Amino acid sequence: MSTLQEPTLLAMTLPPSAGVLTLAETAHQLVSWWKPLLLFAPFVAWAWLISTLFDKHAARFFLGREKWNAIHMTAGMLALIAGFLMPVPGIGGVLLGFTSVVLILGIDIALFAAITNKDERVPESQHIRLDFSKISEAREVKAASKQQATVQLEIKNASGIAVQAPNKDTPDYAIRANAEHIFIKASQVRASQVDFAPATEATYAASYLIDGVRQAGDAIPTADAITLIDFWKSCAELDIKDRRRKISGMIKVTGGAGETGVKIVTSGSKSGMRLTLVFDPDKAVRRPIEKLGFLDQQLEDVKALGQIEGGVVLLAAPSDHGRTTTAYSMLNLHDAYTQNVQTVETESEDMLEGVRQIVYEAKDDGPDFASTVRSVLRRDPDVVSVMELPDVDTAKEIAKADLSRSRVYVSIKGDGALASAQLWVKAVGDAKLAGEGLKGLIAQRLLRKLCDNCRVPYQPPPEILQKLGLPPDKVKQLHKKGGQVLIRNKPEVCPVCQGLGYVGQIGVFEVYVLDDEMRSLIAGQDWIALRNALRKTQRPSIQQAALRRAVEGVTSIEEVMRVTASAPSKQKSKKKSGAAGEAPVKAG
Ligand SMILES: [Zn+2]
Repeated sequence: MSTLQEPTLLAMTLPPSAGVLTLAETAHQLVSWWKPLLLFAPFVAWAWLISTLFDKHAARFFLGREKWNAIHMTAGMLALIAGFLMPVPGIGGVLLGFTSVVLILGIDIALFAAITNKDERVPESQHIRLDFSKISEAREVKAASKQQATVQLEIKNASGIAVQAPNKDTPDYAIRANAEHIFIKASQVRASQVDFAPATEATYAASYLIDGVRQAGDAIPTADAITLIDFWKSCAELDIKDRRRKISGMIKVTGGAGETGVKIVTSGSKSGMRLTLVFDPDKAVRRPIEKLGFLDQQLEDVKALGQIEGGVVLLAAPSDHGRTTTAYSMLNLHDAYTQNVQTVETESEDMLEGVRQIVYEAKDDGPDFASTVRSVLRRDPDVVSVMELPDVDTAKEIAKADLSRSRVYVSIKGDGALASAQLWVKAVGDAKLAGEGLKGLIAQRLLRKLCDNCRVPYQPPPEILQKLGLPPDKVKQLHKKGGQVLIRNKPEVCPVCQGLGYVGQIGVFEVYVLDDEMRSLIAGQDWIALRNALRKTQRPSIQQAALRRAVEGVTSIEEVMRVTASAPSKQKSKKKSGAAGEAPVKAG
């Protein structure tokens, strides 16, 4: 800008015949009063930006506030020196000085944004954006969402066609806006799922599943809830009149955070209809095996299990504890292009490359789950993952198959490795047959991870450590959940975890590669001896693995206790949860 104006300004203020000295002098007189003004303008804007927004940003996410302040001060000083001590006389010098000030301060701002945006402590939604058109856009959306009843998302139905927003001032518009409000709220709190279920005669309750833990939402009048459910159903092109069967469909919603796949599930019972929105279900189950949370030794054992040919490997976890993700990841241990890899499942959560996925549908005149599994196993596949064990017949079919040729992973709803072996024997109904084919046991739970931004370190009392079986001389520090951060000595809700204290989940596992001795103990149903044999392997139990994560600061002792002390599946049924009914998957 300045380089363009420079010659024009000079031409306007100076006669072409003026000598060099006069030029400088005249210019100096002309610019003397607005020179500081011009130089200070960008300075003031910059100072406001760093002292309010940037300083707060650095404080909230612990980005080294003092270090950044020093950098800003240095940039400020440099800008001042360049602006006022530019060794070029006249207007040219002033404009050059101005350009330098803008440039130096601009670099400072860009540097802060670029470096802090790369910092993993700062969540994507809190990144600094220097594109000012986006800022104003974001502000508009924010202001609009404050007034609530607005339509701001793009919803694509099951066929991929955008669902037209209804005219304002129509009742349909309000319904659409309410439906969008739920989606926006869910993404703000990082929910993986939202459920609507009848709470009382007159109301429905919303609940949000955040890192596997249900958080209560608002109550809605039943009439409104029904219109909401019908709206989402119609988006997914589901039959609105079908109010009893469990039906589901996929839609896509585009908002501030990009495109989200939303699985719409509805079902009905005597008490009323239920609705579940599951966000990006495929991404949730897509994780490389190294990222699931196995300890190093466990990962080696898991990979070793993948190398062993044939036999059954049990994968056990309570509901909502990552069983599907692990089952899918295990298949990656096998090359789907050189081997025949298949799954049998009732609901496909993700498309697996190269894997033949058989999605079982219950039909009155069709085969049952067990015969579907049998027909798959008869063709001698290399690897089959049976994603659930709905009945004892399925277990019997697997145990009877030629397990010297086929590796079969069997997902079981169970509480631990030992318990899963017991369930398996019970389901097969023939302990010898059940034990013979077993190659490995893997069991897991999901732990919530402490929020790095607000977790609170503390010194654990030695007697607590002793109780937990942790060495007091080695464990000097543990962490507990925070939920708040101090910003200029004032506590504020942590922006990363929204005050929950936890962000994300990690699996904790038990992995046992079974040997002949263990197999014969299973065949003899000598569970006490099996337990001892498993212990002798020196492999950590789920609780030990979880405590290791606590010592690392990844999670808290409270979370370890919550997840491992009692069986979560039992805990869950005690609580009145608003979850949409999950198909019962039980062995035996
Ligand atoms: Zn936090």
